Amino acid sequence: MERTFLAIKPDGVQRGLVGEIIRRFETKGFTLVGLKFLQPTKELAESHYAVHKERPFFPGLVEFITSGPIVAMVWEGDGVIASARKMIGATKPLESEPGTIRGDLGINVGRNIIHGSDAPETAQNEIALWFKSEELVSWQPQMTPWLH
Ligand code: ADP
Ligand code: MG
Repeated sequence: MERTFLAIKPDGVQRGLVGEIIRRFETKGFTLVGLKFLQPTKELAESHYAVHKERPFFPGLVEFITSGPIVAMVWEGDGVIASARKMIGATKPLESEPGTIRGDLGINVGRNIIHGSDAPETAQNEIALWFKSEELVSWQPQMTPWLH
């Protein structure tokens, strides 16, 4: 079953958006299989965003991501990688569609609330970077198999 890595960034935690964001993925019908609350180290943040290391915003991005606690999650379901990206919205919140997390809840590209893996390979790498395999729980909701 397909899995993706999502993280509520420090701005989302500080603004009290954790419940709102988790609710969206739960009610969509995806399955939560991993969850932790942590303040990332510089090393972890730099590995996570390594693809952007030459970009001018990289130092500020790493500084911000390490500035406070985040909620790291793995969600599972058919098509979850692309669907979560749609639910998150475009990188720049002012250009994100209404109805998306960034479109509904944010303004600033440097404070865009949430991260989501962008493809199967990055999802696999990011899940392995943030979670040990024993921290992920495989389970099947019993009541609503048609939803999941
Ligand atoms: P996404 O998070 O939508 O996958 P990117 O992978 O392009 O976006 O960028 C990673 C993160 O870097 C963004 O979510 C945002 O926090 C930050 N970022 C991207 N572009 C800029 C920018 N021009 N200025 C400041 N921060 C940026
Ligand atoms: Mg990205």
